[in-house]
Order: sequence, then C-alpha cells, then structure tokens
Amino acid sequence: MLLALGALVGAAGFGVYGIWTWGLPWVADAAARVVPVEWEQKLGEAMMTSVAPGAQPCWGDVVRQLEGGLPEGNPYRFDVRCAAEKEVNAFAAPGGSIVVFEGIRSRMGRRELAAAVLAHEMQHVLKRHSMRAVFRGFALQALFAVLLGDVSSLGAQVVGGVTALHYQRGDEEEADREAVLLMTRAGFDPRAVSEMLVVLRDATRESGAPPEWLSSHPDLERRIVETRRLAGR
Ligand SMILES: [Zn+2]
Repeated sequence: MLLALGALVGAAGFGVYGIWTWGLPWVADAAARVVPVEWEQKLGEAMMTSVAPGAQPCWGDVVRQLEGGLPEGNPYRFDVRCAAEKEVNAFAAPGGSIVVFEGIRSRMGRRELAAAVLAHEMQHVLKRHSMRAVFRGFALQALFAVLLGDVSSLGAQVVGGVTALHYQRGDEEEADREAVLLMTRAGFDPRAVSEMLVVLRDATRESGAPPEWLSSHPDLERRIVETRRLAGR
C-alpha cells in the first residue's frame, strides 16, 4: 500500500514536472500566437513605463521609414523611446513599445545604424518573440491572466523591473535575417545591420560588459558574418 502510494505520488510529481517543463512552454508559445494585438500593446506600454519611466520619443523619422517597408496589413504601430541610462541595451516589449538606452543610442550616430537597431528590435515584436518570452517567463501568471481575461494583472507581475526578455535559440538569428530584408524594403542600406552588430561587439568589449552578457551572446561573431553575407546578396 505504501509502495503503491509512493508510486502514485511519484507519478503525480512526475506529471506536474512534465507539465511544468514541457506543457507550460507549449501553452505559452501557443498563447503568444493568438493573443490580440491590443492585448500585447497594453502589456507592452505598461512594461515600457516601468522599465524606463522617463524615456522620450526618439528616432521617429527612422521608425516611420521602416514602417513603410512592412507588409500591407501589418497591425503593429511602433512607439520608440530613448532612455538616459548608460547601459548598452535595447528592449522590445510586446505590441511595439521599444526602449533604446543611451549606451546604444550614443553609438548609433548614423541614421542607417539607428535603423538597423530598430529593424532588429521590431522583428522581436513582429515575430512575437517578446510576447512568447513574457509567457514563458511568467507562464503561470500569464495562464491566469488569459483565463481571467485580465491583462492588467499580468502587467503588474511582469513589469517589476524587467529589462531583458529571454529569447529562444534562433530568435536573434531570425530577427537579424528579417532586419536585413526590412532594411532593403524600407530603402536603407542593409549592410548597416552587420555594422551595427560590430559596434555592439566593440562596445561590449570596451565597457568590460559582465560575463553573463558575453555568455548569452557567444554567437555575435557568427551573426556579424551571416548578416554581412545576407546583405551582400
Ligand atoms: Zn535581439
């Protein structure tokens, strides 16, 4: 009896573990594909306000030109703001709210480089990488928010100072690839994407960026080579 009970508890435990490990990400990814854009926008605005409350609209003309290169019927409008914090970082929240920190803005003096940063970040929104990252990172809260149809409760959970969303393997490469295409369609020089990555790499080196950042971007060299190749076609 005890043995049977033990097995039962073990099985239940494994079931919960299984749901947690495989089920929730699956639900998160599926949910990210179907949530309404307005829902994403509300969440993204709340996240942006929390991450960078003092950020001001910037790079507006570049944003509009890039939007001109998006496919017909694109439901996203982009709200790009620059924040004074010096970190070498940019943040794309679901729905189209993008924050560019001073460490990046100050290094992207040329219009084409600014466009390359945005073309990349916009893909995280368009391909719903950001929405998926939120759902994966906050799977349980997200599940309740969806069940209750209450986006504001999820916003309150998520906006607790999130400055980085953890994208999945392949998301960065997809964003780079699509950025090169978008740059071309919007009338920018697509080679600026690889140039932008070089600037980022050098900035990371000179600022002595924390090892975590480097270890989460081991593939930067490869991305530089790949975007250069794509732009050359
Ligand atoms: Zn990215």
